[in-house]
Amino acid sequence: MQTHFTPGQLADPAIGEANSILRACVHCGLCTSTCPTYRLLGDELDSPRGRIYLMKEMLEQDRPPSPTDVRHIDRCLSCLSCMTACPAGVHYMHLVDHARSHIEKTHRRPLVERVIRDLLGRILPYPDKVRWVLEAARLARPFAALFPGTLGRLTNLAPASQKNKVVTPPDAKSFYPAEGERKFRVALLAGCVQPGIAPQINAASIRVLTRHGCEVVVPPEAGCCGALTHHLGQEARATSAAAANIRAWMSLLEGEGLDAIIVNASGCGTMIKDYGHLFRFDTELMESAKTIASLARDISEFLSENFGDIGATTDKTSPPLRVAYQSACSLRHGQKIQREPVALLQSCGFEVTEPRDSHLCCGSAGTYNILQPDIADRLRDDKIDALARTGPQVIASGNVGCMVQLASVAPWPVVHTVELLDWATGGPRPEALSGVTT
Ligand code: SF4
Ligand code: SF4
Repeated sequence: MQTHFTPGQLADPAIGEANSILRACVHCGLCTSTCPTYRLLGDELDSPRGRIYLMKEMLEQDRPPSPTDVRHIDRCLSCLSCMTACPAGVHYMHLVDHARSHIEKTHRRPLVERVIRDLLGRILPYPDKVRWVLEAARLARPFAALFPGTLGRLTNLAPASQKNKVVTPPDAKSFYPAEGERKFRVALLAGCVQPGIAPQINAASIRVLTRHGCEVVVPPEAGCCGALTHHLGQEARATSAAAANIRAWMSLLEGEGLDAIIVNASGCGTMIKDYGHLFRFDTELMESAKTIASLARDISEFLSENFGDIGATTDKTSPPLRVAYQSACSLRHGQKIQREPVALLQSCGFEVTEPRDSHLCCGSAGTYNILQPDIADRLRDDKIDALARTGPQVIASGNVGCMVQLASVAPWPVVHTVELLDWATGGPRPEALSGVTT
């Protein structure tokens, strides 16, 4: 694609990078058919190619976005399906992140939208605030239909169960010794929203890791990865959260050492693996950010790399449950991890199926299902329909966002992949499976 930035604009390294990304696009359109919003809405401006064109115009003219720019860029899920499809290697993720930050700095949204986005950025990265909001949402759930717009939406998405009040690791402590001989020392990202919504995921992760000879450290100084605010274009909040994590994990690395940083929410994993890029202009943290990014592993990736056929190492046999695996976009497109979770589940004796169009987003996408509820609901319903055709007894996914999105309407239990791996290798049966006959 031809671009027309001035030499003055190109002196800004961030614009220089956007220019290189834009120039790599050859307009072939191979990405359009894999874009969930284009498939749903049929508008070129809701396709990757259309959005790339809008971003080029906005950045070249160095102007605030038009209402059209904002509408179509906001509708992008950041699912990165287009990056998997693109034969030219266009780094759409870095381009749309840059565009979102530009929109946030130069565009004044309507008051209600501004307040909602600001509140999301102030609440979601903090586990204690998330717990309070979830508790309020649970109490308000029976009256959800009375609440307008986003408030009703949030109330509906909050899990109805009270079991999340139970304090589970890693709330209880931050160090978990390996069972038997110590093979690895790893840090686990505790996360921000996830411990409030589904604390059983971290508990299962810790059990699986320690059972396989990993010493697990959960440093309290590490918190939100920054992805939620990053995708809202709130750059300062995102980099501040990421910097705190980098410092916390570097301190462990420089102390007793670290073999990996384990992430069990794939949206966070994609973000942490990109810390090197996020801090590319930061002379203080640039090198540390690259080091941390290189240590980050999705839990399925780490287990697969180091323990392979984990089902074979246990004498416990899992019931032959039929599991439909929902491939989270951030794992599949963001981290290119697709086969590992399926292979791990199969090695434990589960019968694993994948729905048609498994590369398409379920509509969760961070805060997307709160900010773009109509599109998110349609994508979710399509996904539920595809999952139903596989005849599942349970749905497994590697990202809490997908779990919440699907569980809001799914007639089957929805669990994290690691909950099944934990159960199959000696851990407790996931609570969500209490009603499933095996
Ligand atoms: S990130 Fe997803 S929604 Fe956005 S343009 Fe690419 S394929 Fe479409
Ligand atoms: S597939 Fe890649 S090169 Fe082709 S239009 Fe899409 S982003 Fe551009």
